[in-house]
Amino acid sequence: MSKVLIIGAGGVGGVVTHKCSQLVDVFEDIVLASRNEEKCKKIAAQLNRPIETAQVDADNVPELVELINLIKPDMVINVALPYQDLTIMDACLEAGVHYLDTANYEPLDTAKFEYKWQWAYQEKFKKAGLMALLGSGFDPGATNMFTAYIAKHYFDEIHTLDIIDVNGGDHGYPFATNFNPEINIREVTAECRHWEDGQFVETPAMSTQQSFTCPEGVGTYNIYRMYHEELESLTKHFPTLKKAQFWMSFGDAYLKHLEVLGNVGMTGIDPVEFNGQQIVPIQFLKALLPDPASLGPRTKGKTCIGCIVTGIKDGKEKTVYLYNICDHQECYAEVQSQAISYTTGVPAMIGAKMMLEGKWMKPGVWNMEQLDPDPFMDDMNKYGLPWTVIEDYKH
Ligand code: NDP
Repeated sequence: MSKVLIIGAGGVGGVVTHKCSQLVDVFEDIVLASRNEEKCKKIAAQLNRPIETAQVDADNVPELVELINLIKPDMVINVALPYQDLTIMDACLEAGVHYLDTANYEPLDTAKFEYKWQWAYQEKFKKAGLMALLGSGFDPGATNMFTAYIAKHYFDEIHTLDIIDVNGGDHGYPFATNFNPEINIREVTAECRHWEDGQFVETPAMSTQQSFTCPEGVGTYNIYRMYHEELESLTKHFPTLKKAQFWMSFGDAYLKHLEVLGNVGMTGIDPVEFNGQQIVPIQFLKALLPDPASLGPRTKGKTCIGCIVTGIKDGKEKTVYLYNICDHQECYAEVQSQAISYTTGVPAMIGAKMMLEGKWMKPGVWNMEQLDPDPFMDDMNKYGLPWTVIEDYKH
């Protein structure tokens, strides 16, 4: 039985806290801390058992260390923003506790999605006898596990990977993002990169699209190729991959709004002076947009996220598709959140469970696919994200 400190009380933080609180045997004590303690208290009030809450500025290492030393958790689950990854990792090292996050570090001033900053902590965590698990959300996270599971059980060698993330949900707003608007817009407006023949190839954002029909009647959607951080770790850890691509569905209204906002400079990340004050346009835009945590009661429809892998088994070529379908309203009924936060929060809870139960615990900094996918995949079925495999999949 263990004590966890969850940092970040947004959409994902709410789900992680709900899911951890459902498993008393694993997560005996829970503390939820964020910049604004009121948000933690609101989440705590939704639960069936008491948890502690705290206020912390996760950009401030000494403040974090003080809180961790006071609480003495076994591990920290970081579901604040990617900007806080390194400060929280530093604090975990100083205080001697394990670490988990769901998104790779990004510097505030450049929209870069790279693991190099966090991989650089490998020796420090190893020496300290501590574990850091990177990217334990859905994508990255479950998608890394899907790839590892398919590679382990269905192939001798994998050659191509297509990660397809469809959100068939509708929240009724003309424009809103399903998770933190700043992080979401930085991600979708970044140059596209995909892996081909041993290197990343750059193409303009949103310049490649196709139509994709989801299984089980979820529907047919336009999906756009974009860069996503798990491509970096998966192509490193599965060197037989000749091509790896990430695709995400977007509605026409979302793309039109994004184009207009981009054209007028509202998605910019460089500060501009306005009435004697420095304002970062994308941060101002975030203040105007609906809070992703508020979309829960309004969102209807399903997500369908999965991996299509081709490769060789016993000398023959084959294609395997492994996916999860998640219903926005069922998620809301269970944890008062829409499916985007749910599909991120559940794998974060399972990743933490894998570490605390000792199934994955080993010193160092690890991406998900470096660990055995089997116990994680079993828990996906048990704790709200059941998956299906189609062998010999045909597009
Ligand atoms: P939100 O913006 O809803 O929540 C972030 C929370 O972190 C807020 O409570 C915020 O506080 C808090 N926070 C921000 N800065 C600090 C700070 N300096 N100190 C303490 N707390 C802070 O984001 P989401 O819940 O949507 O996303 C959380 C994380 O999950 C992000 O890193 C995101 O990239 C990741 N994610 C990963 C996905 C995956 O599949 N792997 C998918 C979706 C999200 P405040 O309320 O005061 O702003």
